[in-house]
Amino acid sequence: MSNDLMEKIVSLCKRRGYVYPSSEIYGGINSCWDYGPLGVELKRNIKEFWWKSMTYYRDDVEGLDASIIMHPMVWKASGHVDGFTDAMVDCKKCKLRFRKDEINGEVCPECGGEFTGARLFNLMFKTHIGAVEEEASTIYLRPETAQGIYVNFQNVLASSRRKIPFGIAQIGKAFRNEVTPKNFIFRMREFEQMEMQYFVRPETAEEWFDRWRDTRMQWYAEIGIKKEKLRLHEHDKDELPHYASRAYDVQYQFPFGWEEIEGIHNRTDYDLKSHSKSSGKTLEYFDGSNGERFTPYVVEVSAGVDRMLLTCLVDAYEEEENRVVLRLPPRIAPIKVGVFPLVKRDGMPEVAKKITNELRRHMKVFYDESGSVGRRYRRQDEAGTPFGVTVDSQTLEDDTVTLRSRDDMKQVRLKIAELPGKLTELIKVDA
Ligand code: ATP
Repeated sequence: MSNDLMEKIVSLCKRRGYVYPSSEIYGGINSCWDYGPLGVELKRNIKEFWWKSMTYYRDDVEGLDASIIMHPMVWKASGHVDGFTDAMVDCKKCKLRFRKDEINGEVCPECGGEFTGARLFNLMFKTHIGAVEEEASTIYLRPETAQGIYVNFQNVLASSRRKIPFGIAQIGKAFRNEVTPKNFIFRMREFEQMEMQYFVRPETAEEWFDRWRDTRMQWYAEIGIKKEKLRLHEHDKDELPHYASRAYDVQYQFPFGWEEIEGIHNRTDYDLKSHSKSSGKTLEYFDGSNGERFTPYVVEVSAGVDRMLLTCLVDAYEEEENRVVLRLPPRIAPIKVGVFPLVKRDGMPEVAKKITNELRRHMKVFYDESGSVGRRYRRQDEAGTPFGVTVDSQTLEDDTVTLRSRDDMKQVRLKIAELPGKLTELIKVDA
């Protein structure tokens, strides 16, 4: 049943232009995916809502866009060169590779074969900078965006004239050579992260950690994810990553089980101190009010864009008797409204096209005149479009149209002139 649901979602994504296998004409490449016309819009909308929630709707977070390729010392200091590893085992018979922490028994779950001993495998992608391929020119593709924030802490502090507490937010690509990528876009080798690092006085870190946990759960509610499908998992001491004193995973109930979609960490002063030691530059904060100097603690909230997108799709997918419907919250739906002339004559297409062009300035619109209006509605239901506007013979007499809602399929009549205001309100485009 659960695999069945994932298969249906993967197939809908391909059919409707959400997600395609990367390099498909060459047979694809494991764990890399491309976003199609609808996928790219959904992704942008998710990122935009996160970005605005961090840097527009509050007054204590600045934005940053650091480069993917950084000085190799960054990854030495952060602990990634030595410690960003997964232990893996290979099946001697069928050659399949597994993460050691993901297997339960002593033998291969696929063929019953014997395993090799565990070997550590660094997840960072290595490449070379410049023309010479030698040890000294080795660089890494960043496995997380966070380090770009730490090394820019003093820059942002000075240029924005911030005082603690404040945060720095960043959205960008990260790369991990995962041992066992799987579950569609859940675990990829190239993915995007939305990360915010919040710098605080050490003695207030625990309080901010709890506050950010609540703020992030509130964000999931606002974006419209079902409450009962979300939970928090607090890490035991032995589960904690090396840089954190406390950690929560925000988990979602996917068809393949409860899995992490976001990590919330109290990273203490680990990263700033490591970079300070390694670079010889101070990353302390000076409190002008009392002359005190200290290294701030950091509370991190780190979410995956692609996992969030998968969460939205899984959460929205429903099958009804006569239709498949993606109940994506209007705020993030790729297309906000479909515009349809009831029939392809009597001047209806002209009026519908005019409405389409007027709405374009406010939101993503899709015009469709082919097939029965019922089929056109179904197509948009499956694509996740929350509203449909239909031009019929009455429109030609009194300038009114019907506005259909995807979720309850109810229709109301309103004046064409009222459409932009009404739709903007329903969609909460900028709320
Ligand atoms: P996991 O235990 O699933 O490997 P993680 O604990 O290593 O995840 P973090 O390092 O905390 O993950 O990364 C923060 C977020 O980045 C995750 O919650 C997830 O949403 C996203 N993320 C991490 N790795 C991947 C990946 N390979 N593909 C897609 N998203 C990812």
